[in-house]
Amino acid sequence: MLPSDKFHDECGVVAIYSNPEAEKLAYLGLHALQHRGQESAGIVTSNGMALNMHKSMGLVADIFTEEELAKLHGTLAIGHTRYSTAGDSSLLNAQPIMVQSNKGMMALAHNGNLVNASELRGRMESQGSIFQTTSDTEIIVHLIAFSKEQTLPEAMADALRRVEGAFSLVMISPDRIFAARDPRGFRPLAMGRIPAQPGQKQDTIVFASETCAFDLIGANYEREVKPGELIVVGPEGVTSRFYATPLPQSSCIFEHVYFSRPDSRVFGRAVQQSRENLGCQLAREAPADADVVVPVPDSGVTAALGYAEETGIPLRFGLIRSHYVGRTFIEPRQAVRDFGVKLKLNPVRSLLEGKRVVLIDDSIVRGTTSRKIVRMIRNAGAKEVHMRISCPPTISPCFYGVDTPSKKELIAANNSIEQIREFIGADSLAYLSLEGMKKACGDGEKTTYCTACYTGKYPTNWVDVEEIQPVAVAKN
Ligand code: AMP
Repeated sequence: MLPSDKFHDECGVVAIYSNPEAEKLAYLGLHALQHRGQESAGIVTSNGMALNMHKSMGLVADIFTEEELAKLHGTLAIGHTRYSTAGDSSLLNAQPIMVQSNKGMMALAHNGNLVNASELRGRMESQGSIFQTTSDTEIIVHLIAFSKEQTLPEAMADALRRVEGAFSLVMISPDRIFAARDPRGFRPLAMGRIPAQPGQKQDTIVFASETCAFDLIGANYEREVKPGELIVVGPEGVTSRFYATPLPQSSCIFEHVYFSRPDSRVFGRAVQQSRENLGCQLAREAPADADVVVPVPDSGVTAALGYAEETGIPLRFGLIRSHYVGRTFIEPRQAVRDFGVKLKLNPVRSLLEGKRVVLIDDSIVRGTTSRKIVRMIRNAGAKEVHMRISCPPTISPCFYGVDTPSKKELIAANNSIEQIREFIGADSLAYLSLEGMKKACGDGEKTTYCTACYTGKYPTNWVDVEEIQPVAVAKN
């Protein structure tokens, strides 16, 4: 079975029940989750009777002016921030997706990707469903709307049993908030609580992809939404049910390697701890004779700290990042992306001149960024550049919500480590081992991980039919 033709949704979700300033809390939550998607964002609120929505392309702080937020005033809210690839980057696909159904008004926000989306969509279209977007999320909305179950929680449970893949989602109806995770727990979703303020009758229950959103809105982390769990928060309080039997947990290890913020707790574990461990482990497995450890900011910083600590080689910020450009990945056109490296990073000549440098980054995807950075460090006078990567070679695309390109574009799917070293122009190159990465991220402790992008072994039972076509290695 093929996954949907669009499998690149990196997203953040947030939900609030109930607070007199729900729209502001959702806004701040999304602000903290901006790194999970910079293309579009949206908020849907409820004032107890009806739902109100505002979504737009762009960054959270630009989309939600005070004026827009005032229009959204409500006590319940959900929010979504999204990044996807070019073909799909329309406002039409921005979330939340709101519908009016025979079960009333509802809106849904989803992080992850379904692997049976095409199949489900085809079946529903042949039965007369008309889809307005190309997003997987609309499929879930249709399944809920057309479920024979009478109540929304039952209809949602029914819908979630029919979809396969990765989903951490939040839903809003005029009087309830719903939060659910797929039975394998691919993507994160945590639950928190803001203690009732004087004059408020009840605590505010919140959900977010990462706990850094809780910190900003003064919520205490309570627990993870469990794989296969559906939590409903309404006038009756918080109720939890398991709509499906949990399957062996396969949470995305890349959340710990790169995607989540280090100040977040994800899958019940501090990301900072994983990332430092990754660096320490990398130092043990692949030490280098060098004078300075230099991180590629920001993604390599925490691992570089661990590497420097373990080796005793001093850490130096030899690359300075401009904070006024987004991640290079947000611009999908290759020509602009290459230019973006220079826009974003500049070497510190006085730190690098005549030095043997260990350069630390979290991953090499296509190899083009690393190649430019290595050249940049050499041009700034470094004598040697030893590249160290805090995860194993990325050899397979992700079908569960991380933007990893096809095998054809993944440099490590088609080249040996020596060929990659030559391509990026480093004096040496080493990756962390699979076992080392799993150990650093506490595999088997609070969670077990999906490592499909490093192994090609996917936890869901469809087959990756993409052919591996070796590509020539470009020379420096
Ligand atoms: P590349 O030139 O394709 O090898 O890009 C590698 C850089 O992209 C590394 O610095 C990573 O931190 C970053 N990166 C890797 N995966 C992703 C992703 N899914 N989204 C955004 N950035 C990424």
